[in-house]
Amino acid sequence: MARIVILGAGIGGVPMAYEMKETAGKNHDVIVISDTPTFHFVPSNPWVPPKWRKPEELKIELAPVFKKKGIEFIQKAATKVDPVNNQVHLEDGSAVAYDFLVIATGPRLAFDEVPGLGPDGYTSSVCHVDHAAVAVKDWDKFMENPGPIVVGAVQGASCYGPAYEYLMILEAELRKRQIRDKVPMTFVTAEPYIGHLGLGGVGDTKGLLESALRDKHIKWITNARVDKIEAGMMYVTEVDEEGKDKKKHELPFNHSMMLPAFTGIDALRNIGVEGLVNARGFVMVDEYQRNKAFKNIYSVGVCVAIPPVEATPLPVGTPKTGYMIESMVTAAAHNIADELAGKEPTHKATWNALCLADFGDSGVAFLAKPQIPPRNTTWSAEGKWVHWAKIGFEKYFMRKIRKGISEPFYEKSMLKLMGIVRLKGK
Ligand SMILES: Cc1cc2nc3c(=O)[nH]c(=O)nc-3n(C[C@H](O)[C@H](O)[C@H](O)COP(=O)(O)OP(=O)(O)OC[C@H]3O[C@@H](n4cnc5c(N)ncnc54)[C@H](O)[C@@H]3O)c2cc1C
Repeated sequence: MARIVILGAGIGGVPMAYEMKETAGKNHDVIVISDTPTFHFVPSNPWVPPKWRKPEELKIELAPVFKKKGIEFIQKAATKVDPVNNQVHLEDGSAVAYDFLVIATGPRLAFDEVPGLGPDGYTSSVCHVDHAAVAVKDWDKFMENPGPIVVGAVQGASCYGPAYEYLMILEAELRKRQIRDKVPMTFVTAEPYIGHLGLGGVGDTKGLLESALRDKHIKWITNARVDKIEAGMMYVTEVDEEGKDKKKHELPFNHSMMLPAFTGIDALRNIGVEGLVNARGFVMVDEYQRNKAFKNIYSVGVCVAIPPVEATPLPVGTPKTGYMIESMVTAAAHNIADELAGKEPTHKATWNALCLADFGDSGVAFLAKPQIPPRNTTWSAEGKWVHWAKIGFEKYFMRKIRKGISEPFYEKSMLKLMGIVRLKGK
């Protein structure tokens, strides 16, 4: 009987546990370690500050569903992964041994890389549901004293869609409250152009997103390096195509949310062992989601090392999105099952990207197969239906987690759901 430990219980870790249990069968133990008792549906965090969702609505208690599925749950933070001795060290000084380890710990949010960035500084965050809960208070304060809003993603970020979403959601909320005229809005991004998204664009995302920003009178600065943030003021340097300083901007704000760069979590960094993670603490994997140096370690989700899709004047990372993460999960689960059966891994993740960027009352959808160019399929579209599809996405993905459904969600349900909503013309 093998011990398969899954570290992290987010969008990657929980489906990994379900699919692993299903694939490995009753003869092997599946154990999940997470620092929180609840699953968090991260994609809906941008709806929390304007109170379109309560933080509690995005959380699911994991212990009952894991119990029902026969999955052991250890609710403790990992302090160090020890790949040499096949152990994960925990915050209480104990250690969990494994035969196979799947690392699914998501990102460490590197707010420390820009002075004044993040909830301990002067900008809000929607990267974690607890940050979004704090941002509700910032938003309440803003509503008492509306003024300029600055939203975006700093240099080195590898997640851009939620920045556009948050901007557009606030824009829709301000229109609803009939105070949009009091609020100048600016989008600040390290991307070389609007709609690059860390993917070199997908279909006409450049045209669609630029047009949406123009249509809503939102200014933007691309190739933007955020130098520092002080109370109510962001200092930005716009660089040229060579990455050289071109123009300085001082942007006053009454509310700001900027996505940070990501690194791997602390338990993966400074472990004193070569070959598991890269310089930023992301787990290095081969085409089978398996680490080359420690072949009993697999990894899925945002914590996986993926190089940027192309050189850009400022560092712009490649996003790891839900569809892509699901394909990593399926490949890892089947490869571990094969190894348990004495076979070599053969399953490869497709790394396709499907994203619904909600604009509050409309949105932009895009599909990139595979996520990293050159691609076989690139498609993007706009409409009210995207907003409704995003609500459906939340509802059905949370149902999968709550009910312990092991079937892949995107391949089986999401594409169908999008098609139906679109056909209904919403
Ligand atoms: C605001 C936002 C919106 C997004 N929206 C979308 C979207 O609409 N569509 C899309 O496809 N993608 C979206 N993404 C991208 C991606 O799907 C999410 O980031 C997703 O949450 C990544 O899943 P993950 O499992 O890799 O990481 P996470 O979901 O962050 O899960 C990581 C897990 O590891 C746990 N963990 C961390 N450290 C430790 C430790 N030391 N010990 C134990 N456990 C630990 C965490 O508590 C968590 O349970 C969005 C990302 C963000 C930030």
